[in-house]
Amino acid sequence: KNILLNDHIIPYESAYIPVFDRGFLFGDGIYEVMVREKHGVFFQSAHLDRLQENLHKIGLQYNISKIEKQIPELLLRNDLQSETALIYIQVTRGVAPRKHAYPDNPSPTLFMYAVPYTITPVNTSNITAVVVPDYRWQRCDIKTTSLMGNTMANEAAHLRNADEAVFVRDGRITEGSHCNIFFVRDGMVYTHPADTHILNGITRKIVIALCRQHRIPVKETAWEAIALEQADEAFLSGTTVQIASIARLGEHTYYEGDNCGPVTRTLQQAFADLKKTDTTQ
Ligand code: PLP
Repeated sequence: KNILLNDHIIPYESAYIPVFDRGFLFGDGIYEVMVREKHGVFFQSAHLDRLQENLHKIGLQYNISKIEKQIPELLLRNDLQSETALIYIQVTRGVAPRKHAYPDNPSPTLFMYAVPYTITPVNTSNITAVVVPDYRWQRCDIKTTSLMGNTMANEAAHLRNADEAVFVRDGRITEGSHCNIFFVRDGMVYTHPADTHILNGITRKIVIALCRQHRIPVKETAWEAIALEQADEAFLSGTTVQIASIARLGEHTYYEGDNCGPVTRTLQQAFADLKKTDTTQ
């Protein structure tokens, strides 16, 4: 109902972005998505640190320190104090005459919204995914609002009745259209290294930490797309998908129905346990 635009909380119907905002013209902006649960915003500082890092990566100076106060205010103004909620934050390079080069003194646009969000229990979703070429750019480490490659891929999955699209670049699986991907083989967990070809998900980092805690060996090595059937299990990670077991990926079926592999199950349980603790830091 109420959104935050440039430090003002106003009804969304009366919120407008000028047509010359570089976010609108160029997709020149970055964003974050986080969820507020019983114990507060899940890994809020990690998300805000990544927001800051992304601003740095796109060369945009913007002080985000006030956001920490604005989040509870926004939740309050939407009667979401006691509900689970999804919080979206976006910063663009703001209004300037349309030129590709950055303006000298940008005035960034800050946009935030919060909506009620039902968090699905981590162990109930079993999803299907298709493999698509990774036709995105070479800076997928930036959480930019320029998401055409991601939306195209997700739409391709949707048209093929699958839940998610998983990218393949140079013969290797990189990540999903809005999540990271892990494979399991002989008790070893594999995921793409956190280089410029993937977004280094907060959930990805949590999964890796949980593996270490549970003495599950992890290798940050990309899985080969021609070897999908050689994995015992595959799962996705992300703020909204959490840890989602993959039933079918491309032509290969890992598990039927709601079944899922033992390593995925262990990590889902560990993730659920982690959520019972204070994870706002
Ligand atoms: N990769 C992409 C392309 C994403 O869009 C996302 C999340 O939105 C992720 C990975 C997972 O990141 P996180 O775990 O921080 O939500």
